Amino acid sequence: MDYEELLREAMRAARATAGRGRIADYIPALAGADPHAFGMAIATVDGQVHGVGDWERPFSIQSVSKLFSLVLVLAHGGDALWRRVGREPSGNPFNSLVQLENEQGIPRNPFINAGALVVTDRLLSLTGDAAGQVRELLRAESGNPDLATDRDIAASEAAHGHLNAALAHFLASHGNLENEVEQVLEHYYGQCAIAASCRDLALAGRFLAHHGLRVGGARLLSGSDAKRVNAVLLTCGTYDAAGDFAYRVGLPGKSGVGGGVLAVVPGRAALCAWGPALDAAGNSVAAVAALDAFTTATGLSVF
Ligand code: GLN
Repeated sequence: MDYEELLREAMRAARATAGRGRIADYIPALAGADPHAFGMAIATVDGQVHGVGDWERPFSIQSVSKLFSLVLVLAHGGDALWRRVGREPSGNPFNSLVQLENEQGIPRNPFINAGALVVTDRLLSLTGDAAGQVRELLRAESGNPDLATDRDIAASEAAHGHLNAALAHFLASHGNLENEVEQVLEHYYGQCAIAASCRDLALAGRFLAHHGLRVGGARLLSGSDAKRVNAVLLTCGTYDAAGDFAYRVGLPGKSGVGGGVLAVVPGRAALCAWGPALDAAGNSVAAVAALDAFTTATGLSVF
């Protein structure tokens, strides 16, 4: 396949969405993102890496980090996690409190904020440094030693973090946090504030396309856990728009409010697209359009 040409075609589809969506403005540090930025990259299991547009420009990965914290917990043999967090789509916004009350402090899935806080809490217990471990994994898989945490974004998240703090306290009140609320929040904000490019993220997600095998052949996840993570990504990775994402893109994927979407073609490649303007569910309008165009043109989908 001529990936470069396919990516250029996908970029044209993304550019056609110009003017649609809104940049996340819940924290000032994200509101300043360039509305015209767009990038897309592919990293194949046979070692090819291609990209278009701003594919090497770092952006705030935000909730894309939730995928890597989950993987690290599972890699530590953390199957007990599933007693503390479910695997069902939520059908509610990513930061909703509603279900948490109805379901007594057991979040629906690991990708809504409440579930991600539980995962970060577990990773903190297992390693002592959840945000640092996520960053190290991204550095190792991308081969980019400069991949760093944006401290301004982390501070901005903390300063405007009432809703996440409410979620964390609610979890704690149900006995579903092992560490102090403040510590869990600090690590959650730290992982969200990592800056990485489409190139970095496509490379970092490639093991999920490779049945859990890292660059160089070492195993990060069992083949079975890689399949499971891809399944949860497909059903829950884009929140209450997961149905529409499956319909349009047909791949497991994880979005973040920084505008990045990482998607996995099992057995084949990882893709990452980025454009800062978001739809109502918090998913990048341009990135979803680009992935839609790519999978439609290539037929590379799990369906
Ligand atoms: N930092 C954001 C938050 O906690 C991440 C949400 C997202 O990317 N969907 O609200």
